[in-house]
Amino acid sequence: MPSGVAGLNYEEMLERLYSRLPSRRTDVQIEIPQLEVEVVGTHTRVKNFKLVCEIINRDPRLVLRYLLKSMGAKGGLDSDGNAVIHQNVSRASLNKLFEKFIELYVRCPTCHSYQSELTRRGRIWVLKCLGCGAETTVRSAW
Ligand SMILES: [Zn+2]
Repeated sequence: MPSGVAGLNYEEMLERLYSRLPSRRTDVQIEIPQLEVEVVGTHTRVKNFKLVCEIINRDPRLVLRYLLKSMGAKGGLDSDGNAVIHQNVSRASLNKLFEKFIELYVRCPTCHSYQSELTRRGRIWVLKCLGCGAETTVRSAW
């Protein structure tokens, strides 16, 4: 009885083997929740702002400044450390901006890890990846 008919052929076995190994993608993946938005009158409150900023390891003031500048809005952090935007913003559009921030200032362009640091060196901002160690100069938006 020829092998490969009943069982798996060599390629299939390899494929199975590799699919069981933890992939690089899983290694670097962290769960970044969506921003939870609550509209109060003419203001928009981001309820989980502090938490999400902790997860992505970024200063909430920096993230907020980016969001406000992109929207041309004013706002600040409340006593809980959550963002208040002096404008009505939908959850969808806020999260779109936030994703852009992550793309530009959190995700490593080399290995796509989200575990990184953003530091300032003089006038230059550097995105340093904690996964592969790559350093990328980024254009600051604030
Ligand atoms: Zn990296």
